[in-house]
Amino acid sequence: MTEERILMLVKPDGVADHHVGEIISRVERRGYVLEALKVVQATPEQLEQHYHKLVDEPFFSDISEYMLSGPIVAMIASGTNVIKAVRTMTGSTNPTEAASGTIRGDFAREWSEGAIHNVVHSSDSVTSAEREIGIWFPERNA
Ligand code: GDP
Ligand code: MG
Repeated sequence: MTEERILMLVKPDGVADHHVGEIISRVERRGYVLEALKVVQATPEQLEQHYHKLVDEPFFSDISEYMLSGPIVAMIASGTNVIKAVRTMTGSTNPTEAASGTIRGDFAREWSEGAIHNVVHSSDSVTSAEREIGIWFPERNA
């Protein structure tokens, strides 16, 4: 079963720098289907759920401050192996390491202070995607 969904977030830097349309275009251009889309202000509770594996890290407060710093765009895309494809399109976590041609490699750079500003989040597995869709689109799983 390779037909699947992915949760993507355009993070506050991506929205503030006007990359939303380009990011949606890259996903659509590949032929994946945009299933849901919204602009939201994240809450601390959503971020604790979304980053549940990182909550105890010393840099969690940096991540939280970053993700609360402005509106984000949440979207669901679907298609065969969309998770693997979008992870490749997203690029490495650290923008300095992210290959040119990837979203992070094209729109992000490293800064010496605060959280890693890397423009987008993309789910890394079917399990993560379904869990994260429940956090950002609770109305769809009701
Ligand atoms: P991703 O799947 O590539 O987004 O990376 P992870 O799931 O490992 O981490 C989630 C997010 O937490 C990253 O996109 C970064 O914004 C942040 N993050 C991860 N690792 C670190 C770190 O070592 N230091 C800091 N400051 N932020 C981190
Ligand atoms: Mg991740």
